[in-house]
Amino acid sequence: MNSIDGQSLLLGFVASADRMDEFAVMRDVAEFAAARGLAEDRTTERARIAVLAGRPDHALELLPDVDRAVGDSVELTWRDVVALAAWAAQGDLEALGALHRVGQGLQGPQSVAHGYLLARAAEQCGQQELADSIWRALLEVAPGTMVLRRRVMVADVLGRSTNDAKEATRPIGRAARLLTEMIPRPEDGTAPALDVVRRLEERGDHAGARLLLEALVQMRPVATGVVELRDERATPASWWRERVPGLVAAVVAAAVAVAAGLGVAPTWAPILAVVVAAAVWRWWRLPEGTDLSATDAGVLRHIRRWLPDVPDERSAKSRNVGAALTGGVIGFVVALTLAGIVTEGLMADAYATQSARIDAVVWPLVLLLTLVCAAGGQRLLRPAVRRAAQTYVDQQRATSVMQSCTCLQTVGMRSVETETYLENHLQDADAEVAALTPTLTDGTASLHQCPVSRTPWLLVRAAGREALLLRGTLLRTKAEPTPEAAETGGYL
Ligand SMILES: [Zn+2]
Repeated sequence: MNSIDGQSLLLGFVASADRMDEFAVMRDVAEFAAARGLAEDRTTERARIAVLAGRPDHALELLPDVDRAVGDSVELTWRDVVALAAWAAQGDLEALGALHRVGQGLQGPQSVAHGYLLARAAEQCGQQELADSIWRALLEVAPGTMVLRRRVMVADVLGRSTNDAKEATRPIGRAARLLTEMIPRPEDGTAPALDVVRRLEERGDHAGARLLLEALVQMRPVATGVVELRDERATPASWWRERVPGLVAAVVAAAVAVAAGLGVAPTWAPILAVVVAAAVWRWWRLPEGTDLSATDAGVLRHIRRWLPDVPDERSAKSRNVGAALTGGVIGFVVALTLAGIVTEGLMADAYATQSARIDAVVWPLVLLLTLVCAAGGQRLLRPAVRRAAQTYVDQQRATSVMQSCTCLQTVGMRSVETETYLENHLQDADAEVAALTPTLTDGTASLHQCPVSRTPWLLVRAAGREALLLRGTLLRTKAEPTPEAAETGGYL
């Protein structure tokens, strides 16, 4: 019987990991294949993978024949380029410069492969700004993998405006929106968000990390894991603390209304007081915490106005108007009921003789409560909005469940998709395939197969990150003909 082509199988996994930018898995599987003699003549490729995986030392062990003086030569082989990247990753800035120059004039897949080497080398030797610009350029020409998109997100958030809150909000909003679209969704796992947040924090942008989490929580309030990440970084200030000026203005307006009703203040005073209170409520909030710059505090205010994702097709504007109207009606009904209890019950005798004077106090108060409830409409409706947000998440989950075979179209999956596909479609691998299960330095691997096409899949589980499925290639090598078969010319 023909036997499994181990090299195609394992290098298929490496290629899938490459398509998903899973550098560490790529390296482990490539080295496993090499150790089994299944990666002959592939030292340059293995060295390239080692640089991407953050192991330039290993890359240089694989390329002992390349001379460091190669940086000055005009004609370079791919082998020289990989060695330059390894030296650059170790902190050799001249090699980094030479590697950078090599990229001029490269095109297509070569320029993408060079870009990855340059960006990873720059990251490893601490040239973060160069890495940022290369990641951005790569996103224009390379398939936008999750890893690449997240690197560019970090660069964009770090580069946000420092003096214009509206401008600064944009990259944060874009990053949060992209994170909601990645797998796993924020409700199913925090790995993508945490990766971006950690990178921002490593580069000193704690405010950016917090604002990104705030934006994500605002869009997806039922993503409890993300809410926890946000709370670890910033105790969510009670909303009333931010609203102290508005609440004080409302109390003052109420007092003015009472004074006017009692004849102490002029009759136009309550109207003016209510208008002022509404304006203070709308525009004057106390900044939360002291760790945000004035611009970032402005960004936080913008973010706080966003509405969560719900299955509602209406625009944010009409949803806001709807919430204000609903809040206003609730406030009006409650105020009227309270006024009725006071005038018809508690103070019925006084009202019979002093109705004009009491009305002059009560009606401005009814108006004030109506306005306050209209302004806080979003907040009053929060339980209903939470339910709608949960429905939205459930709908999203239901539409993307991987039930049937996608072994032809997909090279890899993450998180929930992985678990669903494993459960609903894949089987444990046959013994001869399973015998080639690679060992990983970080995490455990197992092999599975499609029951229909027998396509092999590598499952990688590692602590602290989402499960990963990578597609491999199943080829069989022709067995050596047995002597009997040879005698008959191989024909049956
Ligand atoms: Zn399948």
